Amino acid sequence: MKAIRCENLCKTFGSGNNAVHAVNGITAQFEPGTFYSIIGRSGSGKSTFLYLLSGILMPDQGEVYYGKYALSQMKQRQLERYRRRHTGFIFQDYRLLEELTVKENILLPAVLDGKDPDMEWCDAVMESLSITDIANRFPFELSGGQQQRTAIGRAIMNKPSCLFADEPTGNLDKKTGEAVLDFLLRIRDLYRPMILLVTHDLDIARSADVMLQIEDGRLVRNGYESRQNS
Ligand code: ADP
Ligand code: MG
Repeated sequence: MKAIRCENLCKTFGSGNNAVHAVNGITAQFEPGTFYSIIGRSGSGKSTFLYLLSGILMPDQGEVYYGKYALSQMKQRQLERYRRRHTGFIFQDYRLLEELTVKENILLPAVLDGKDPDMEWCDAVMESLSITDIANRFPFELSGGQQQRTAIGRAIMNKPSCLFADEPTGNLDKKTGEAVLDFLLRIRDLYRPMILLVTHDLDIARSADVMLQIEDGRLVRNGYESRQNS
């Protein structure tokens, strides 16, 4: 597992008077085995920052490094492999494939990677997410919490070293949200990935090892301490 690092990361949407500097010069490093939370107002650049780090979006300026490898220097196939093998992304709106069952959705990253899926790991993940009994259901048959847990299972199927979660508890009730947080904390301790979670929920943010804040596309010091540090 390697650290992920970015230098002077910038992403602007639009141009001229309409230019929005969504991410505006972020330099940071994220270590394996560490759980980071990011808080910040709506529109402050949190999602864009996660998309840049995970290789979903390319920056206009600056660079993302996975270990010593610069994402902008990777060929398309290498970038796809980085995304598939080393990153997992949990979207707020789940983004499950509607024509696949819960289990098939979770197995998908392994199948796409051309590997024989680790069925024991898949079963263990479903068990700890309490979705074993709905393994053969389709997304439209699931509650929001069940869809989000399926999306989390999919994101960790390949045991990525970098796990990105964009407001994964935003659509869930408090109790379900806390269960998701507990699961991510257990994942951190189980195989020590880097976890970067964006949230509006201060209680959840404070459970991280390191709490960060984004304002107007910049990483700023935040006024709150995570529980680990207080
Ligand atoms: P957050 O996740 O913190 O709410 P985003 O990263 O989604 O913020 O957006 C940051 C800013 O960039 C916002 O002003 C948003 O409107 C703008 N933005 C994000 N994506 C796009 C896009 N694809 N095209 C144009 N503007 C965008
Ligand atoms: Mg967002």
